[in-house]
Amino acid sequence: MKLKLIYLLCFMVFLSANAQKYINPMDIPTVLSASFAELRPNHFHGGLDISTPGIGVPVKSVADGYVSRIKVSPYGYGHGLYITHYDGHTTVYGHLSEYAPKVDSVIRAEQYRLQSFEVDFFPDSTLLPVKQGEVVAFSGNTGGSFGPHLHLEVRDTKTDDPLNPLAFLEEQVDDHRAPTVYGIKVYALDDTSAALEKYYDLRYISNKTIDAYGHVGFGVNAVDFFDVGGRPCGVMEVSLYDDDRLVFQSLLDRMPFDKTRYINSFVDFAEEQKHNRYIQKSFIDPGNHLDIYKVCKPIIVKPGEIHKIRYELKDFAGNVRKVNFNVRGVDAKNFVAKTRRKPNVLCGNEYNFYDCGIEVNITGGCFYKDEYFEISREESTVYKCPLYTVGNREIPAHENITLTIPVPEGFMKKIADSTLRSGQLFIARTGNKGGLVYVGGTFEDGRITAKPKILGKFLVAADTVPPRVFSKNSAIILGQSHSIMIGISDNLSGIAKYNCYIDGEWKLFEFDYKNARLISQVKKLGLSSGPHTLVAKIEDECGNVKEWEWKFRVR
Ligand SMILES: [Zn+2]
Repeated sequence: MKLKLIYLLCFMVFLSANAQKYINPMDIPTVLSASFAELRPNHFHGGLDISTPGIGVPVKSVADGYVSRIKVSPYGYGHGLYITHYDGHTTVYGHLSEYAPKVDSVIRAEQYRLQSFEVDFFPDSTLLPVKQGEVVAFSGNTGGSFGPHLHLEVRDTKTDDPLNPLAFLEEQVDDHRAPTVYGIKVYALDDTSAALEKYYDLRYISNKTIDAYGHVGFGVNAVDFFDVGGRPCGVMEVSLYDDDRLVFQSLLDRMPFDKTRYINSFVDFAEEQKHNRYIQKSFIDPGNHLDIYKVCKPIIVKPGEIHKIRYELKDFAGNVRKVNFNVRGVDAKNFVAKTRRKPNVLCGNEYNFYDCGIEVNITGGCFYKDEYFEISREESTVYKCPLYTVGNREIPAHENITLTIPVPEGFMKKIADSTLRSGQLFIARTGNKGGLVYVGGTFEDGRITAKPKILGKFLVAADTVPPRVFSKNSAIILGQSHSIMIGISDNLSGIAKYNCYIDGEWKLFEFDYKNARLISQVKKLGLSSGPHTLVAKIEDECGNVKEWEWKFRVR
């Protein structure tokens, strides 16, 4: 009898230890357009992207729980919904077009209370309980989404760390394809080692021999495909063998948000900037604090030795791709001497530079390894002011640098004669494709200070032009089923605040930044039939305000 009870208890423990299986969040086949921890600019993807045919597909809670957070933003996850379950996990649904009515009424009340489209609301566990399979929202394309899909995350509720949702979904996504390797890069890792530091296309390296001397490293450019979908996704596990000895292994099964930016050290950042490809490095920079590395031992090549090197790349379904090549040890004098500049900024140390009239502070956690850092100044003929080069845009910065630039004489004169406000000045970075990118900044004693997170070329610019506002409606007589659309844009610093009032009362309009518009359905505004006056107040980052009035009638 006692034994039976123990068996029963063991069985129950086994059941709870085996993670609860979640139902698929939509009644459509699960086709993925992005996988967990896939490589993205400045972050690892936190979940799965499930393709949808257009928007408006009902989204169900994958398990019992309660709505624990509703976050609405023009950026990021757009309309996001968080459900906390009773198994220690929280699921996140992103880029939604709409919430289910019971969630919508709660969040709308909060938006009207705060008079803000953007809200981040944390209901308590009793306000919005949900059942497994209950429709909680509808899929969309809001926020930083470029094509309709559902972004699904599973997080450890205690730590908030994203985990791979494929480990939780009851129905698996078909995957019989091993990862695809595009190429390998070779690195000489210390001052005495030597190798031709170069990217080899797979067909040039497979079963070939590379000459090297001393401490060498490798990086791999690879993706993974599911059976259906056709979009390249991420590889879960990378292993590297030196003569059958495991020397390196990384596993992407958990990605804390405070570490996700270390991707700029996980990959070869300069290759990403220059050639738009992600090479995952199989060695660790000293300032890289990711927890994904299981093994990392040096590969040392001595003259006369032949090392059989093998990469093994694995996806979540267990498919493995192997790539073999040889490294032959040769004397270092066979290589051209390194021309690399000696680093003047050591990883882990803080620095203050005063150079070319500007001031730059670099924190100890800013760089992943020792770097050569330089400041220079030129007179820009395009912008007709000094342009400062601060470091090199191919060097990744993990933390913000503090940058202080003197305001050019011309602007100071305008401030003195009150034709310019100091708040209209800001620091801008020159963009990849030309033009200026707003960085920000505060004015003090004739200088502007800002905190960029990307190195490059900077200058002081002024935004004196208020945002542009115009009607995007084809009619001025609207029915309840119509939408009101207001076009808004800004020439330089960008939209900071947007508020719409109808007949003097604040009304909720969504800011759709990709289509540069504010939008609301007439029926959601609670307007009576007859004439109405809409006033939109739009402000840019430099405090320039545009007030725009539009008269319309509701049928
Ligand atoms: Zn996503």
